[in-house]
Amino acid sequence: MTKPDIAPPPLRNDCFALPAGVNWTPVDEALALLRDRLTVVAGVETVPLMRAAGRILAGDVMSKRANPPQPNTAVDGYGFAGPATEGPQVLPLQDGRAAAGIPYEGALAAGHALRVLTGAALPEGVDTVILEEDVTVQDGHIAFHGPLKRGANTRKAGEDVSQGDLVLPEGRRLTPADLALLSATGMAELTVRKPLRVAVLSTGDELVEPGDSAGPGQIYDANRPMLLSLLEGMGFGAVDMGRVPDDREALRARLNQAAEQAEVILTSGGASAGDEDHVSALLRQAGAMQEWRIALKPGRPLALGMWDGTPVFGLPGNPVAALVCTLIFARPALGLLAGEGWLEPQGFDVPAAFEKRKKPGRREYLRARARDGRVEVFASEGSGRISGLSWAEGLVEIEDGARHIQPGDPVRFIPYGSFGL
Ligand code: AMP
Ligand code: MG
Repeated sequence: MTKPDIAPPPLRNDCFALPAGVNWTPVDEALALLRDRLTVVAGVETVPLMRAAGRILAGDVMSKRANPPQPNTAVDGYGFAGPATEGPQVLPLQDGRAAAGIPYEGALAAGHALRVLTGAALPEGVDTVILEEDVTVQDGHIAFHGPLKRGANTRKAGEDVSQGDLVLPEGRRLTPADLALLSATGMAELTVRKPLRVAVLSTGDELVEPGDSAGPGQIYDANRPMLLSLLEGMGFGAVDMGRVPDDREALRARLNQAAEQAEVILTSGGASAGDEDHVSALLRQAGAMQEWRIALKPGRPLALGMWDGTPVFGLPGNPVAALVCTLIFARPALGLLAGEGWLEPQGFDVPAAFEKRKKPGRREYLRARARDGRVEVFASEGSGRISGLSWAEGLVEIEDGARHIQPGDPVRFIPYGSFGL
């Protein structure tokens, strides 16, 4: 039998180079596309303030009450009608006191002073407070040194927030500090988005469940625990759809279930164009598949599509690529679907503790962490190194163009926390 006239593709020195003649979409273009095409799908409900942490406001919140609601004293001391002029001051003390929550009934007589405690509403006739540490009390009088401006050591009504002010805008994901602000300004219930339900599904014949015995060729499912906890940490409603073997009908059935139970589906594995890449094959069959070849390292093609009206993010199986693609693409897209708008992760320019040469043509994300004011990267860029994901506390983003980073050069560090973790 004569050999067919066929040669393997020439091996290249730089075998990670981008394929020639293929159009790779820059990261920013891909993001702009997502931002443009997606809108909020999460429903709305009303929840008590006490249970609203991490929820997303479904409308602007206006202040029902000023903060502070009335003028009050910022310190423990003595209140009087200011200002006090330069030099020694002696004022007779009027009986009684004003304390937080226990207002002084009545007015302060002109030329007198009254004991006041932090947070007490200023009684009529008091607009200025002298700190108790600066006062001598004797024989029913106080003595202190002037001058003191009118209004010293007091807080004005509404100096923080006025009634009717915009307190927090629609789309805000509520922090603990936000709850303090909302409570102070009179809110008891909030209209928020229902948590976006995100289904997570792992695909691959090689995968076994943590705790199961793993035979030759089998590996433990690393992506599902990572993605489920990542989503929970970001405040989405994670729905565990388990593992599916590389079997088209099994995957079809599981996608159908996921589309019923969730508003978005994240799959990992099987998203390329190979024989066992059933996620992309099924989406293509459904006529709603886009193969995203993004100029990104680490990254494999992403399969984006719709399954029965539900958006599917087909992530690469490789855990490093799966995490980076989730943080860079899925995270802002999920934010839009969930009602929090499009969030750009905050990065910081930090001096590099490493050297790296990078060719132009794609953006790179390195596993990184900041130590002593410099950013370190994981020793290996190998995309199978899950230990590096765990070692890292964020990503270094290197722009699409060529770069030669020397130690001390600023690089963009994005802590995991900037992705909402
Ligand atoms: P795939 O995208 O399905 O071609 O998978 C790419 C690589 O990622 C293969 O080495 C898979 O074994 C591995 N992989 C896929 N899914 C997972 C997973 N859930 N956990 C760990 N590794 C995975
Ligand atoms: Mg696979």
